Amino acid sequence: MKLLVTGGAGYVGSHTVRALLAAGHDVTILDNLSTGHRWALQGCELIPVDLRDTHNLSRRLKKRGFEGVLHFAAKSLVGESKNHPAIYYQNNVGGTTNLVRAMQAADIPRLVFSSTAAIFGNPVSDLIDEDHPKAPINVYGQTKLVVEQMLQAVCESSEFSATCLRYFNAAGANNDAKLGEWHEPETHLIPNALRAAAGTGNPLTLFGDDYPTNDGTCVRDYIHVDDLASAHVAAIEKMNSSSGFNAFNLGNGNGYSVKEVITACEKAVGAEIPYTIGSRREGDPATLVASSAKARSELGWTPEHDSIDEIARSAWNWECHRRDNLT
Ligand code: UDP
Repeated sequence: MKLLVTGGAGYVGSHTVRALLAAGHDVTILDNLSTGHRWALQGCELIPVDLRDTHNLSRRLKKRGFEGVLHFAAKSLVGESKNHPAIYYQNNVGGTTNLVRAMQAADIPRLVFSSTAAIFGNPVSDLIDEDHPKAPINVYGQTKLVVEQMLQAVCESSEFSATCLRYFNAAGANNDAKLGEWHEPETHLIPNALRAAAGTGNPLTLFGDDYPTNDGTCVRDYIHVDDLASAHVAAIEKMNSSSGFNAFNLGNGNGYSVKEVITACEKAVGAEIPYTIGSRREGDPATLVASSAKARSELGWTPEHDSIDEIARSAWNWECHRRDNLT
């Protein structure tokens, strides 16, 4: 298929571009490179347009023959979203609305949307499936939920199709270590632990050890970024034969505590990673673990890298490559 990937120079976007190219698709990237990286473009054509630039967006999508869009471009930091809600709504909700209108004007019929477990808020069940109540507890999650609702309404009123993929904790890096996670500032646990070990980041702080979990630290469902990428390939390919609105939760179904993740990072590094215990981070539920039964049965998707040790190893390979070649 001839596909447009917004945010294709970012972390999950670039891994998905890699998987789409490997599956034989023709990929163009639309990215304003505000947080994405030129080295992640993988030889694809770049349309350097901001989604808030309505006029240029429409102009650049017309008459290109795109058959579908995978939409990653967004602002995604929970803490930042709390301090700058209008910027988050403008980018995530306004940007996606502009994109959908430009797609409609250009007759592009299908969209895969990067959504998040943050739309669910505090879990009311051990495993979170697609029907779990949606009550986000931060602005980032609110913006993603509003977009899902907008997409559902658009699908119900026209021939448009949208599939929302709700990621749990994206982690790891491609095995060849040429693509990986690089956010500034970095807020995520695994890169923060590995940057502390590599000497490229700050000392590690563990945010709270008084949660109602086995070891007192938060439990999350870490999903390898290449497994997220393969889910996107399956989702856009399935949309050839099905239409309307759909949503899938993407995780491994296994929860690991912050302390267990640090242990996996220490194994990958081959050394102890010192940390201090800090206070809880606002907006962190104790446990978030996905049920991905629907994605497994309807997309025929199976995560292939579900060991936390493998995820940490791949992230460490990437961190060493980044430190030695790109900084
Ligand atoms: N965390 C931590 N120290 C850090 C970064 C994260 O203790 O420097 C904790 C965080 O409080 C949460 C877990 O690690 O319980 C995963 O956080 P991350 O930011 O990686 O992903 P999120 O769960 O926010 O999507």
